[in-house]
Amino acid sequence: MAIATLLPATTAFIQRAPRMLIGAEWVEAADGQTMPLHNPATGEQLCVVPRATVDDVDRAVLAARQAFDDSPWSRTRPRERQNLLWKLADLMQRDAELLAQLECLNNGKSAAVAQAMDVQLAIDFLRYMAGWATKIEGSSVEVSVPLMPDQQFHSFIRREAVGVVGAIVAWNFPLLLACWKLGPALATGCTVVLKPADETPLTALKLAELVQEAGYPDGVFNVVTGTGITAGAALTHNPRVDKLTFTGSTAVGKEIGKIAMDNMTRVTLELGGKSPTIVMADADQGSAAAGAASAIFFNQGQVCCAGSRLYVQRKHFDNVVADIAGIANAMKLGSGLDTSVDMGPLISARQQERVWRYIEMGRDSGATLACGGERFGPGYFVKPTVIVDVDQQHSLVQEEIFGPVLVAIPFDDEADALRLANDSPYGLGASIWSNDLAAVHRMIPRIKSGSVWVNCHSALDPALPFGGYKMSGVGREMGYAAIEHYTELKSVLIKL
Ligand code: NAD
Repeated sequence: MAIATLLPATTAFIQRAPRMLIGAEWVEAADGQTMPLHNPATGEQLCVVPRATVDDVDRAVLAARQAFDDSPWSRTRPRERQNLLWKLADLMQRDAELLAQLECLNNGKSAAVAQAMDVQLAIDFLRYMAGWATKIEGSSVEVSVPLMPDQQFHSFIRREAVGVVGAIVAWNFPLLLACWKLGPALATGCTVVLKPADETPLTALKLAELVQEAGYPDGVFNVVTGTGITAGAALTHNPRVDKLTFTGSTAVGKEIGKIAMDNMTRVTLELGGKSPTIVMADADQGSAAAGAASAIFFNQGQVCCAGSRLYVQRKHFDNVVADIAGIANAMKLGSGLDTSVDMGPLISARQQERVWRYIEMGRDSGATLACGGERFGPGYFVKPTVIVDVDQQHSLVQEEIFGPVLVAIPFDDEADALRLANDSPYGLGASIWSNDLAAVHRMIPRIKSGSVWVNCHSALDPALPFGGYKMSGVGREMGYAAIEHYTELKSVLIKL
């Protein structure tokens, strides 16, 4: 067992009970209330952070509003926005180990994986978005204006920053999800109020320090820590927010979408998933099993596009399930600071209980556990679990569990695989494991999801738009699609 040593800076950051950033000020909540954070690997309290009030959120939005409407930021040129984002990415690179350790302590995930993946992907994404800052274009249009036939016109379309962005994120990839919002917002010239998940605000607060250090003007980036019900709701209702961008559950996303329409606030929603992994008979069965295991067990299954439904062509079903169960049984569970560990704890006792209820539901309804089905503490651990003999309409198959639980069902042919894969309220991602090019190309257009991976799963790239069909959301993050969501179009007609 090799335990990573905490950096003095990590311990110091936690010990000083970090505050929120509103405008230029690092502040407590207006009423002095705090909320505790826990280490999911031990259940012990890590520290407390401010529990923002409605007033705090309103002040943060006002700071962002002023920074957008009337500050040097509103006149910043694309090249400066590009350079600032690049500088921020460099600072994150400098502090990558610290950010990863904070993520590990706060979320439970492996510090090594957080550094190599969460933090690195966030840095890469900011650099990708820095590139867009200088490439935001409008267009000129030759117009006819039929009602004024004797006039000459010059007409063009501007693409302008949408304004103040209210960003609310989930706890499964705290830093990365925040940067998916921050990158396009800062590239386009917006300002941001970020409400990190109740459970995992630490990297957002560190990020705010780095934003200041990078030289962004005050008010461009504000972080309010607090609960969804108070701080998240206050941000959602605030009429000074021009755009809401939300990553979280479908239930909360629906509420936010409805409230956003009261103020006609622009909104993007990145919501839940129940993504299928489809293994065709011709696939390399070993790679497919390893890929399917990683598709569900990575990040303890707390991944919106996790491959949580496995469909295997019948003749290979038993073998693939046995291989995945073998991989699951060999996984070592423990603290994310232990570099020999394959899987960490779930985020909270509540999430552990939720996942456990689904496993019990499976047992009670006569499903078979091919592996796993155990939980232990004092942290919030659930062993990687594979469930078979379960009907397609069962809650285990239809609902998002958001834990290391895979349900596996055999299928007979391509049409059957497509029917089962699409039989879900969600549509975030899907993977097809096959080397039959024709079959793969027949299937891709028929799968109702925002991403389709072939012979891989959950592979993301900053240039590829990411988001959901159906109940998995509205809008896209990443790629140029994100730039579109953080800008408005303005048509200009000049009579000459
Ligand atoms: P959640 O919806 O409970 O919370 C997400 C965020 O919303 C948190 O910051 C929370 O404080 C806030 N919130 C809660 N209630 C609110 C309210 N009434 N008003 C405003 N804000 C409120 O989700 P979660 O349990 O934190 O995250 C897990 C979910 O997120 C899963 O469904 C997962 O699939 C989804 N997710 C989706 C993506 C994606 O890109 N599609 C990525 C990661 C996670």
